[in-house]
Amino acid sequence: MKVIGLTGGIASGKSTAATHAGQLGAHVIDADKLGHRVYEPGTPGFVKVVETFGEDIVDADGNIDRRRLGSKVFADPAELKKLTDISWPQIKQYARDEIESLARSDSNNVVVLEAAVLLEAEWQDIVDEVWTVFVPPKIAIKRATSRDGIEASAIQERIDAQLSNEERLAKSDVAIENSGSVSDLKEAVAKEMKRVNGSPVGVST
Ligand code: ADP
Repeated sequence: MKVIGLTGGIASGKSTAATHAGQLGAHVIDADKLGHRVYEPGTPGFVKVVETFGEDIVDADGNIDRRRLGSKVFADPAELKKLTDISWPQIKQYARDEIESLARSDSNNVVVLEAAVLLEAEWQDIVDEVWTVFVPPKIAIKRATSRDGIEASAIQERIDAQLSNEERLAKSDVAIENSGSVSDLKEAVAKEMKRVNGSPVGVST
């Protein structure tokens, strides 16, 4: 089984690329969704987050209030690091468990782990290759503002806080440029999927 780590900056086209890989038969693991499990009551992640940030982040229903937690960490890099030191290893463990379970049930398939923070969190050791989807910041801003309705300055701030395209590409095995159309992106994904599946590139199956 081949495991692909698919990453990229905000609005680079990760989800679009991962969805297409899924349509071509890959199992897609969404690290964001695994991240939600870290906050579920009763999990080790929940206990550690509450111990670290205080009972006041727990709402009346016993759930972590992500906005209250967010307000404690987002303006403060040291606090944010405390949170990612808890969440990233936990998400990695969930991802590893899922990959192992897929390897037992369908060992011939391709698994795509879609993870915005793959490189920051250093999850390269649980994947066989890293694919980075990238667009120039101007295009990312345009696509993110129309997708999320957030102001361009807020997107720029996030881009500045994340790894640059160059930093990501230096740590990647495959670079997928997404400045063109969605069908160009899908074609690039299909080409890489064929390669990892062992079929000759350019020969339709
Ligand atoms: P990410 O998962 O990296 O944040 P998405 O796949 O959600 O990025 O893409 C960001 C936005 O840009 C979405 O609204 C998506 O539909 C759109 N998009 C992605 N690729 C293209 C493209 N090649 N051309 C135009 N719009 C695109």
